[in-house]
Amino acid sequence: MKEHAFNCPYCYSDVSTWVETDQFKQQFIENCVECRNPLEMIIDCMYGSINNVMINPIAQ
Ligand SMILES: [Zn+2]
Repeated sequence: MKEHAFNCPYCYSDVSTWVETDQFKQQFIENCVECRNPLEMIIDCMYGSINNVMINPIAQ
């Protein structure tokens, strides 16, 4: 597991999430810890490190 820090696209807070780095590709919904809005996280990992992270705000 690796911590990934990012800026929330809703409230622009610095927040972070934990990523399971032994999975190559993963997609999950996570709520921002600050504003509680849902974010779609699409994460690529390679050899135990985070390769690419896409964060999409989910329209309500
Ligand atoms: Zn937020």
